[in-house]
Amino acid sequence: MGTKDLLTDEVRVLEDGFRGELLRPGDSGYEGARRIWNGMRDARPAVIAVCSGVADVKAAVNFARERDVPVAVRGGGHNVAGTATCDGGVVIDLSGMRSVLVDPEERRVRAQGGATWGDVDWETQAFGLVVPGGVVSETGIAGLTLGGGYGWTRRKWGLTCDALVAADVVTGEGEFVRASEEENEDLLWALRGGGGGVGVVTAFEYECHPLGPEVFFIGALYPLDDGEEVFRKWDEFMADAPDEITADVSVWSVPEHPMFPEELHGTPFVGVLGMYVGSVEEGAEAMRPLREFGTPLLDLSGPTTYLQVQSMLDPMFPDGDRYYWKSHYLGDFGDEEIGTILDFCRDRPSPRSVVPIRSLGGAIARVGADETAFGDRDASVLLSIDGTWEDPADDEANVEWVQEFWDATERYSTGATYVNFSMLEEDEAIRSSFAANEERLTMVKRLYDPDGVFGRSSPVSAAD
Ligand SMILES: Cc1cc2nc3c(=O)[nH]c(=O)nc-3n(C[C@H](O)[C@H](O)[C@H](O)COP(=O)(O)OP(=O)(O)OC[C@H]3O[C@@H](n4cnc5c(N)ncnc54)[C@H](O)[C@@H]3O)c2cc1C
Repeated sequence: MGTKDLLTDEVRVLEDGFRGELLRPGDSGYEGARRIWNGMRDARPAVIAVCSGVADVKAAVNFARERDVPVAVRGGGHNVAGTATCDGGVVIDLSGMRSVLVDPEERRVRAQGGATWGDVDWETQAFGLVVPGGVVSETGIAGLTLGGGYGWTRRKWGLTCDALVAADVVTGEGEFVRASEEENEDLLWALRGGGGGVGVVTAFEYECHPLGPEVFFIGALYPLDDGEEVFRKWDEFMADAPDEITADVSVWSVPEHPMFPEELHGTPFVGVLGMYVGSVEEGAEAMRPLREFGTPLLDLSGPTTYLQVQSMLDPMFPDGDRYYWKSHYLGDFGDEEIGTILDFCRDRPSPRSVVPIRSLGGAIARVGADETAFGDRDASVLLSIDGTWEDPADDEANVEWVQEFWDATERYSTGATYVNFSMLEEDEAIRSSFAANEERLTMVKRLYDPDGVFGRSSPVSAAD
């Protein structure tokens, strides 16, 4: 069925059984609602179904399945590949479903499928608890959890998907099911890092851990000229670091933001950024060597609140700018890898592009490859190439830089890409990232989405 028919004749059918808002081209609110975080993606859905609850989600899924039109599910809208929207189809938009309920006794939190990390952190911190989430408060819990989830507590408490204990899901057939260790265990397995596309998760339930309100954060910014030494020392330090420390090295330029002294704005740096899971005093002591790799341009380290840590990067990644991100898991981080990475970092066409190199291991690696759909967890390092710029006229130069960087480092890759830092392009061969889990994942998706309603927006679909 064409978009035109869907617009003129069909949406009225949905109106009768829908309590939220249905936005079509020309409606006030449509233009704002169709935009997602990545300004590079400019899709025009036939209808945006802004759901108010499970009943609306069921109605929207049934409506789309019966008409065999493209479907996209929107959580926080931050997926870099733009999978929260589609051209000419139905967007099942959960941005109005963001409530968060904490059970402090059981150390559990239940959050609706459109919640962001800011929503979850705010409520859990009221009880001195955290969910191992992402590091930017505006990202959605949905996409991040479904793809795995790396945050500042990951070496202590693992991936976000490891903390997922249950979920409410509307399947491709419009049925409501609960996934937990007790019921539909295969569905829970698939939701843990399988890249989504198995149903609409209307609520996520996570295990929480006690932390905060104060934590020790490290932000030591060294001159980019010291890059090789800082990379090597960081790698040596992290090899023996306790799980309480998650610290990354990132090449970037000092953002033009009041958080940084004006005279340093635009200066390229290699930064060691990290957080300690434990007391401020222990953190200050344990992470001290990371601040002594040389003479920092700027050292922002110190005690701060967990909520501040979780939102300090927000202003650097505003909605609507241009983004093109790709990643590789690396088996080694030796001289050759470091040399190639730094060569490309020195040539960034946009000073806003950042190249984070994330430390893995710890609790992440203690979960078996087949225990969750996420797959293999042996890599020690995740290299992410985050092209970030503003002007569409610069698209070609920036996309080309990311692509060439990614191509040049492919030989160091374990062969896997992190689904959440990916453009889902063919050369990324993203399905192989699920390794031996791909077959089981496809089977589970066929079970819960036999018509492939959600197939188009996920790397492994029921249609495979
Ligand atoms: C600024 C920024 C910071 C980031 N930081 C981190 C980080 O610290 N750690 C990390 O691991 N990743 C990080 N990411 C990557 C992030 O995990 C992905 O972009 C993720 O897809 C975002 O989830 P979302 O719900 O906002 O995305 P959306 O674009 O809304 O959705 C992403 C995918 O999930 C599906 N989906 C969304 N909601 C649901 C739902 N309720 N049920 C079923 N499917 C759904 C969508 O269809 C889509 O395919 C970051 C991304 C950005 C842009």
